Amino acid sequence: MKVVDQLKAAKSTLFSIEILPPLKGKSIQSIYDSIDPLMEFKPSFVDVTYHREEYIYKKRDGGYLEKVSIRKRPGTVGICAAIMNRYKIDTVPHIICGGFTREETESALIDLHFLGIDNVLLLRGDSIKSEPAFVPEPGGHAYAIDLVKQVVAMNSGSYLEEDLADVAPTNFCVGVAGYAEKHFEAPNLINDMKHLKAKVDAGAEYIVTQMFFDNQKYFDFVNKCRENGITVPIIPGLKILTAKKQATALPKIFHIDIPQDLLESVEKCKSDVEVKEAGIAWCIQQSKELMAFGAPCLHYYTMGSSEVTRRVAEKVF
Ligand code: FAD
Repeated sequence: MKVVDQLKAAKSTLFSIEILPPLKGKSIQSIYDSIDPLMEFKPSFVDVTYHREEYIYKKRDGGYLEKVSIRKRPGTVGICAAIMNRYKIDTVPHIICGGFTREETESALIDLHFLGIDNVLLLRGDSIKSEPAFVPEPGGHAYAIDLVKQVVAMNSGSYLEEDLADVAPTNFCVGVAGYAEKHFEAPNLINDMKHLKAKVDAGAEYIVTQMFFDNQKYFDFVNKCRENGITVPIIPGLKILTAKKQATALPKIFHIDIPQDLLESVEKCKSDVEVKEAGIAWCIQQSKELMAFGAPCLHYYTMGSSEVTRRVAEKVF
């Protein structure tokens, strides 16, 4: 079922999760082990992230360095199919611009269509470590909106090869990313919102936000989106703080703020066991407040740790 149809039919706030593919060479059992404890809360859908290639230098005989491309977490499409098969629930593969040509993207979308996966979250992706800014693949897309346009075209039966006859249109529900605290490259929130609105006008049916720890930022963001004519559901993305170092790492990686109250309660903790408890308590409070606000769904970034998500879900759903 399409995410947007689930949101429309919902009588209360839905529960959903995002998982990462396991590191290359690891078994899919780790995915099942992280989903099993959460099935009791009936996740409406499971997002599976996409990870682009990275480049590393390997030392070879004779001392020279060889530049090697590696994909550390492959398997997004296969994992989505395996989850659907095992749990009979909807999956949302993430599709990114970075590292892909339009043709490669089209092939991935054809695979998803054949597998009966009818949801996609469309993203630009970040730059690889060796590049200071995002560089699109030659023949690929520069922004998420270009991906949205490609999927919308396929949904109306238009593939890249113009002269294909009797084509079967795809039927994807399109989600895109939004940033309550602004995307880090955007000169300001209004400009970022203008590009978000363009993604919605191009066919995105719902938005999932980057993680935030201060609900007021989400409330303000939703209100501003509404004022700017963005009417689609805006799903808050939530991460549970589990270690002291995350209080400085998350702002650096995701360009978000840690509220002073949360920071002070983390700083008082003597161990990460205590931080985890503080993080769970904060997220329970955040979740309840978001529900009261009328958030359509609470989307948890599990990041391989379903135990803490379970602790929150027990108190919220
Ligand atoms: P875009 O919407 O393309 O925006 C990128 C920047 O360009 C913004 O600053 C925007 O304001 C600006 N912009 C947009 N359109 C234009 C235009 N036409 N002209 C000029 N400027 C423009 N990354 C992964 O690699 N894999 C994942 O699985 C993944 N999942 C994610 C899930 C969620 C919910 C979120 C919030 C992020 C995820 N990301 C993922 C990270 C994401 O790829 C990065 O945040 C990336 O930097 C931006 O992606 P976007 O889709 O928001 O980009």
